[in-house]
Amino acid sequence: MFIGHIAVAFVAKKAAPKTSLGTLVAGALFLDLLCSLLLLLGIEHAQVLPGATRLVPLDFLDYPYSHSLLMVLLWGALFAGGSWFFKKSGRSAVVLGLCVVSHWFLDLLVHRPDLPVMPSGELRLGIGLWNHPWISVPLEGLLFLAAAALYWREFRPSTRGRRLGLLALVMLLLGIWIGSLLGPPPPGIATVGAVGLAQWLFVAWAYRVDQRPGPLTG
Ligand SMILES: [Zn+2]
Repeated sequence: MFIGHIAVAFVAKKAAPKTSLGTLVAGALFLDLLCSLLLLLGIEHAQVLPGATRLVPLDFLDYPYSHSLLMVLLWGALFAGGSWFFKKSGRSAVVLGLCVVSHWFLDLLVHRPDLPVMPSGELRLGIGLWNHPWISVPLEGLLFLAAAALYWREFRPSTRGRRLGLLALVMLLLGIWIGSLLGPPPPGIATVGAVGLAQWLFVAWAYRVDQRPGPLTG
């Protein structure tokens, strides 16, 4: 799941218009941004394993800090608390917290049973739609396109440059997603971690296209 997470951020903007799209994208992608860093540091572990699922050749061995449900609820609460601290809006805080937590439940749909419930413990969940590409690919693609269309309708940027920036972001995300589905497996887990960290670019990009004239949103 990649662009499906960003779809959540597009939709969340409608529920919390005062929160920047960049903050919402950071929330929706946070578990993978954290996981990428922890993989590179050798704190969490995964390996490239062609055939692990029909769609995604990754074998997640242990990722308790970024992807166990208990820790995810904690990360969601931290994001909500941070939002409350800066914006004093209960609605914005709840929406941002839910963005973070939504990541786990979208992953639950597509991962095979490798998502831990507790940081330590044996119970791991996953419905495994990555083994059913005819379901998961249209589901994720349509979710993303519908969410991007909703954002465009409600929050179309006021300047031509930002409108082009938003369209370029949507096209780039689609291109990367399709490339990852059709391309060869990554050469190693360090590449997976580095590419994962590069997703901060989309956070910065989303802040940029979402800026409004007048007081800055954050
Ligand atoms: Zn994830």
